[in-house]
Amino acid sequence: MIEIDGSEGEGGGQVVRNACALSLVTRSPFRITKVRGGREKPGLMRQHVTAIEAACTIGGATCEGLTVGSSEILFRPGQVAAGDYHFAVGTAGSTGLVLQTVLMPLVLADRPSRLVLEGGTHNMLAPPFDFIAKSFLPIINRMGPTVTVRLVRPGFYPRGGGRIEVDITPAPLSAIDCVDRGALVDRSALAMFAAIPPRVADREVAIARKLLDWPDDAFAVRELPESQGPGNILLLEAAFEHVTEVVSGFGKLGVSAERVAQTAVGRMTGYLASDAFAGPYLADQLLLPFALAGGGTFTTVKPSQHSYTAAAVIERFLGRRCGFTQLPSGTHRMEVR
Ligand code: AMP
Repeated sequence: MIEIDGSEGEGGGQVVRNACALSLVTRSPFRITKVRGGREKPGLMRQHVTAIEAACTIGGATCEGLTVGSSEILFRPGQVAAGDYHFAVGTAGSTGLVLQTVLMPLVLADRPSRLVLEGGTHNMLAPPFDFIAKSFLPIINRMGPTVTVRLVRPGFYPRGGGRIEVDITPAPLSAIDCVDRGALVDRSALAMFAAIPPRVADREVAIARKLLDWPDDAFAVRELPESQGPGNILLLEAAFEHVTEVVSGFGKLGVSAERVAQTAVGRMTGYLASDAFAGPYLADQLLLPFALAGGGTFTTVKPSQHSYTAAAVIERFLGRRCGFTQLPSGTHRMEVR
């Protein structure tokens, strides 16, 4: 039984999601105490319960302590079964984080799977749909599997109601090197909004335009049907030959359009100023597939606490180390050992 202190390192939900995925792949049971102990409101939230339930469903697993607010869980994996699955996060919880939990076990299964996930698609503190589709999955597909994702309907916090569909054709994960991002080929900025005044999105775009030296036609505003709101996100994309970085600023009541734009632009300029392959979010999310592949390297700006924590959980299950070394340029190189 692998024992994990859920308050160590990042102390968030990612520990739970990575442990479930690794448990299903390795068939090792685990117990987490002090679940999300590093968070202001510790314990399982609705979206974590859905993610674990999804892991139980696809993996014939059982989980004790699976209730909202629970601070201890005991997860016993079974046999992963590919298939057609539908999971709905009862609140606007992130569909992307449910996907993070079940994707690797299904990518390594013996048959294709199809997932319908309902909930939030553009949530704060979670990978937005566009990041999954353009940043994360292209790298997974380069490793062997074929995973495609469609946004059927966006969902914002607190209303939710979003829907994504995922098709997974499994294949063994092969080790790849992601060191060189190649030349910049495209840049774009999109402010999406629903049921909020259009001037908010216009201001976000105006500020991003002022701060980024990007061509005028790179900027756009998209209004979604009123029924999908209220919601707002500013997405900035930089497509390089070998990787696309997608950063976001999330609109929220009480946060000005200026702040939203400055947050997104700050993230993008940090990435563009480096020569790293992976931004900080992509880096922590690539550790699991790279470790499962048993090798491979990527460069990243600066490893986040999420990355160090993911590496520690991975080592507990696989006995493989995801090590980071700083290069003379200041970027960091991750290598699975
Ligand atoms: P946790 O905070 O432990 O629940 O983990 C959050 C997960 O969401 C991590 O894997 C982050 O990389 C990911 N994440 C959070 N914000 C973003 C974002 N803006 N873009 C992409 N991924 C994100």
